[in-house]
Amino acid sequence: MNLIKSKIVETWAVDVETWPEDNPDTVRQQMDDVLIVFQSCFGIDALIEREVIISNGNNADYPIAYPKRRPENTALPVDYMVYLFETSNDPLRFYYQASHEFSHVLMKCYPDNDCFKWIAECLCALSTFYVMERIATLHPHMKERIETYLKTPKERPLKIIETFGTLSKYYSAKMPSLINDPTEEKSGNQRPRNNAIALWLLEIVENNPLGWESILHMDDSLMQLKMEVRPNNQTMKEYFRHWLSNCNAANEKRFISDTIKRLGIRI
Ligand SMILES: [Zn+2]
Repeated sequence: MNLIKSKIVETWAVDVETWPEDNPDTVRQQMDDVLIVFQSCFGIDALIEREVIISNGNNADYPIAYPKRRPENTALPVDYMVYLFETSNDPLRFYYQASHEFSHVLMKCYPDNDCFKWIAECLCALSTFYVMERIATLHPHMKERIETYLKTPKERPLKIIETFGTLSKYYSAKMPSLINDPTEEKSGNQRPRNNAIALWLLEIVENNPLGWESILHMDDSLMQLKMEVRPNNQTMKEYFRHWLSNCNAANEKRFISDTIKRLGIRI
């Protein structure tokens, strides 16, 4: 490995050896662009307490974030390995993938019970749209490129939004597919369903970026929900109820209540 540390968070590094040859500092800069946005929402402490290596590779499962806490990952050199899938040095591809995967790292990755995984996945999709929007503000010269880049992943979701009108209608219709296929395996690498939900929720984080911190309190050790939990309306309510009770800050609670409201869930 050839690790280059972030200038924003000293515990995060990119393995530049895994990237197509270029100035290694370019990849570090891309990581830091994403981390600047995360730092402004989550604070530095939540980032520093996680040791993360970002690597690049060519694998059908990538991009993905692996947490060391999982029994199959105990050999990892750090708490989290983030693998991206980049064949070029396109900063937009980096931003798109990294903002999703970094959000998994803050959630401590994935719920143990797959029936709740869609919530994490849609919030990570939300992270991508939000972070790229913020990067466009940080680097105005990239604004147009970012907007053009996001046209494709937004195209089908915007049609869904037009057809269904409200997230609560869409959620009721899609609940079985959210539970059974949280990463939209059959949709190829675009995820129109999750991206539509993310776009419906985007305004919540735009209006309350600090409330996004609530995702720090949704990991399994805090959720007290057992593996055998069966997915239905009741267990979804329970999930959100637990998540809400894990948060203390008013803006975090507001983030969750706004999300629940849009989904049309009453807890
Ligand atoms: Zn994901």
